[in-house]
Amino acid sequence: MTETLVAAPRTPYALLLDIAARLGPAAQRAQERAAAVTVADSHVYGYYPNTLGSALEACDWTGRHALVQQDIAPSAVAFLGNGIWLHHTSTDPEQHVLTLLIPCACGRGYTGCELADEHDLLLILDALSTSGGLMPHQSDAGGNDCDNTPATPTRRSWSADT
Ligand SMILES: [Zn+2]
Repeated sequence: MTETLVAAPRTPYALLLDIAARLGPAAQRAQERAAAVTVADSHVYGYYPNTLGSALEACDWTGRHALVQQDIAPSAVAFLGNGIWLHHTSTDPEQHVLTLLIPCACGRGYTGCELADEHDLLLILDALSTSGGLMPHQSDAGGNDCDNTPATPTRRSWSADT
């Protein structure tokens, strides 16, 4: 005796759930994260060809979707090693903000250094090569205040799905 199994017909609700998974907010957030990586990778490849464009690959970036309620645009981060992170965001195709997050010498946090161009990056790297990869703490002298930057970002805190 042969028994034939027949799949149960899909309900409209089940079909709607499939559609929502493809078109809904979760899919939009995934697209924003992927686009943020593409834009960051393209920017460093085009504007920092001899430094970041040579040292980083697209797979080094982790995309972050927008946080609409906090008015935070999509961004991407890359861990450079030695506790140093690179953050990229752009609010429109012509406005790119690339920031190095460098551990402060005081050990309490990070200092953000917004990069102007490749020459600017080379000057910062030169300074880091003689400072052990740490940014001098400057808040007591009226400069940067590392306490304003979250301390010890980790790979987990920058992960794509959180
Ligand atoms: Zn400090």
